[in-house]
Amino acid sequence: MPNLGVYVHIPFCQSKCAYCDFYSLPNQPEATMNAYVKALAQHIEEAGKYIGKGSKGGIPADTVYVGGGTPVVLGAKRLDAVLAALRKNFNLSTSAEITVEANPGAVDARALKKLRHSGFNRISFGVQALQPELLAALGRGHTGEQAADAVREAADAGFQNISVDILYGVPGQTRAQLTETLRSVCTWRITHLSLYGLKLEPGTPLAEADPLLPKDDEQADMYLEAVELLAREGLRQYEISNFSRQGYICRHNYKYWTLEPYVGFGAAAHSDFGGKRYSFIKDIQAYIDGVRDSESLMEEMQAVPMEERAGEYVMLGLRTVNGVSSNEYTRLFKASFDSLENKLERCARWGLAETEGDRWRLTPKGFLVSNQIIGELLDANAKAN
Ligand code: SF4
Repeated sequence: MPNLGVYVHIPFCQSKCAYCDFYSLPNQPEATMNAYVKALAQHIEEAGKYIGKGSKGGIPADTVYVGGGTPVVLGAKRLDAVLAALRKNFNLSTSAEITVEANPGAVDARALKKLRHSGFNRISFGVQALQPELLAALGRGHTGEQAADAVREAADAGFQNISVDILYGVPGQTRAQLTETLRSVCTWRITHLSLYGLKLEPGTPLAEADPLLPKDDEQADMYLEAVELLAREGLRQYEISNFSRQGYICRHNYKYWTLEPYVGFGAAAHSDFGGKRYSFIKDIQAYIDGVRDSESLMEEMQAVPMEERAGEYVMLGLRTVNGVSSNEYTRLFKASFDSLENKLERCARWGLAETEGDRWRLTPKGFLVSNQIIGELLDANAKAN
């Protein structure tokens, strides 16, 4: 069995960004944060009896990702307690990648040193943009200067693996601004960059405001130019939205794209383990009460049939530059790859996909229309099997 990834969801933020539809609440009282950490520790301990140190030959875990929300809002002491609970109850490998998400302005040099000392060895900052007008449009509570300072302070605190998130397609954003942002962050001591296209999620204040976004072809140019710029700066693309220096891919997120097992803890956390996908309730207080009273925490759970796994293999594998392998597909799912290959050959004629040996992958142009390509592939797959 492959090593396990462990995800912990911290649904607290300083304030709510205008585009955010993640499960996170701003301005929560200390008492709630304390109770939440206590519930997490209890939940981790209980799960550890079955899949961690408490079980016979518990599964080794080699990645931990503490995400949110803005986990650093909890403070270094509470995050230390979460990591201590994981170490105590799970077989965390000594070389585990242990990530914490942070926002500039939500963490200072002292807290960064403490986090590094606790054992977090990777930090991911939500930077998004550097221009004040774009940060204001997004409702971010920090400045570009604070982002640069936070990355410098994290590096000074001993973090050698630092990631930043950047958005493109922000209302009012120009190609020149995106280029300026990427050039600047590439001079910082980062090892990894995630580049996401802004999506207007229904119900968020930004979507309600119905802003003018950069046109589709403008967004496509932004993406393609960014891929080239980042490659020139030594940040190679390894997934649709992710770029890293040599040896610094996000090992935890890579598990999601290669169908490796992961377990989540916390309100709204997702898991894919033991052939089942499940998620916990999106409600902090219900999660705290549920753990305390040993009640069900499940929001949803489903067994994943083989055909669905085969579809996921294609859908997620084609997000990576490693792509999918026809031999591996046939070996894992006992199914023919022919119908998929026919479609991919057509994509190759349009410059959207390419092949090497038995592997197929999308080109950067193909990544831009990956939803359509993958949709067609899944349809072909469903008809063939
Ligand atoms: S910091 Fe992240 S999780 Fe929190 S509101 Fe903003 S986008 Fe959402």
